[in-house]
Amino acid sequence: MEILRVEGVNKSFGGLKALNNVNFKVNEGTVHAIIGPNGAGKSTFLNCMIGRLAPDTGTVMFGDISLTGMKPHEINQVGVSRVFQTPEIFGELTLLENIMIPALAKRDGDFALHAFARVDQDAEIRDKAMHMLEDVGLAEKRDIIASSLSRGDKRRLELAMCLSQDPKLLLLDEPTAGMSRADTNNTIDLLKRIGDRGITKVVIEHDMHVVFSLAEKVTVLAQGTIIAEGKPEDIKGDPRVQEAYLGG
Ligand code: ADP
Ligand code: MG
Repeated sequence: MEILRVEGVNKSFGGLKALNNVNFKVNEGTVHAIIGPNGAGKSTFLNCMIGRLAPDTGTVMFGDISLTGMKPHEINQVGVSRVFQTPEIFGELTLLENIMIPALAKRDGDFALHAFARVDQDAEIRDKAMHMLEDVGLAEKRDIIASSLSRGDKRRLELAMCLSQDPKLLLLDEPTAGMSRADTNNTIDLLKRIGDRGITKVVIEHDMHVVFSLAEKVTVLAQGTIIAEGKPEDIKGDPRVQEAYLGG
């Protein structure tokens, strides 16, 4: 069954056509990778799906719900969470607080900034946040200020922030960017484990090792256009894909 259906998305920045009539479908419960060279439009596409950018044309359906024109926090509220290319965490707060805020915002249908005021008063959410920290292996650092974490740990924290919202669909923009091979492998294991909960995942990735370890289906974007789609093993040998990566 389809959980996400994107049709006819176009997006230009001035004279630059960043997305050119993109159509995209994701089946529920799967891991679907979007790959493509730098500047292909991957992050732009993600931002169009989660309401950070308004596409010039096109529709985004999440099950029966039209996300077209919805604001990011509204999209978040219906069950879509995302991890950005640059981790977005609350640097001055502890790890536990970092997870409690999005969890509270989701449960109470609130802006994260409003949830911030109540963060120390909610035992249920605190327990949940602790659980999430254990899940990603950061439990012993719960009272540390988030800005002091390593890059890999920041990414893990951001993932825990997303998971605390019990998303149905999780969108990840290069979740292993800048990580060591060891941290990358840890993240792959973590993403596999959370797959067991039935969360559908769309992973934007340039690291082929990650794509082949995780994804059941791959969509290749180059210069704003989908140039290939299929199973990882088929995509790997596709001459169009090799050409796109080598710069044609
Ligand atoms: P990717 O994530 O695949 O590397 P992006 O979606 O970030 O690619 O960028 C696609 C193209 O759109 C690039 O040429 C980039 O320079 C351009 N672009 C992205 N965001 C903006 C913006 N806010 N304003 C102008 N150009 C942008
Ligand atoms: Mg990008």
